[in-house]
Amino acid sequence: MKKVLCLAASVLMMVSLVACTSKTDELVMATNAEFPPYEYHQGDKIVGIDVEICQAIADEMGRKLVIEDMGFDSIITSVYTGKADLGVAGLTITEDRLKNINFSTPYAKATQVIIVSEDSDIKSPDDLVGKTIGVQTGTTGDVYAADIEKVKLERYNKGFEAVQALTQGKIDAVIIDNEPAKVYVSQNDELKIVDEAFTEEEYAIAVAKENDELLNEVNSAIAKLKESGKLDEIVNKYISADN
Ligand code: GLN
Repeated sequence: MKKVLCLAASVLMMVSLVACTSKTDELVMATNAEFPPYEYHQGDKIVGIDVEICQAIADEMGRKLVIEDMGFDSIITSVYTGKADLGVAGLTITEDRLKNINFSTPYAKATQVIIVSEDSDIKSPDDLVGKTIGVQTGTTGDVYAADIEKVKLERYNKGFEAVQALTQGKIDAVIIDNEPAKVYVSQNDELKIVDEAFTEEEYAIAVAKENDELLNEVNSAIAKLKESGKLDEIVNKYISADN
C-alpha cells in the first residue's frame, strides 16, 4: 500500500513539475491586434512594434512568446487575473489602470490626436464641443473624449471602424493614438490629422501587481533594449522618421 501511495505521489509530483515548467517556459502576451504599427494582422500572423519588443523580452528571459489576441478592454483584466503574463498593446500609463496592474518603465511616447475630414470646421481640440466623436472602447481616447462638453460619443470595437464611420460621414471626428492615426489617414485622401494633439501619453507594459519578479525582468530587458539600440531599430523598422 505504502509503495502504491509513494508511486502515486511521485507521479503527481512529476505531472505538476511538467505542468509548471511548460507554464513558465511561455511568456503570454495579451494584445489587441488592431493597432498598426504596434500590433496588427499580416496574413495569418500578428506583427508590429509591440510584438517585436515582447519577442526580444521573451528571448532575454529564455521563454517562448505566446500571443493572445483579444478585445482591447479585456487586456488589463487578463493580466490582472493571471491569464496573461504581460499586456502589450500600446497601453498608456494612467492612474486608473495603476489601481489594478503595474506598468513597466515606458518604452514609447505617444499622443491622442484628432482625425477629421479635409473640409472639417474642427481645427483644434477646443472645436470638439458638442460634436459626435468616434473612439475605440476602453482606450484613453474614449476616457478623455467623454470629458468634452456636450459631446456625443460613438464607441467602436476597433479603431479602424471609427475611421470608417468618419469617412461615411456618420461622425465628426475620431480621437485615437498618433501612430495608428497616421496609418489610417495615409490610406484615406479625404482625411487629415488636426495639428494640435489632444493629450500626451507614454506606453508601457502591464504586469500583475503581485508579480514584482516579472516586472523587474521586464524592466531590465527594456533597459537593455534601449541601451543596445535594439528598441530604436524595431521602432524605425515600422515608423519612418519623415511621416
Ligand atoms: N494608448 C491607448 C490606450 O492605452 C490605446 C491603445 C490601443 O488601442 N491599443 O488606451
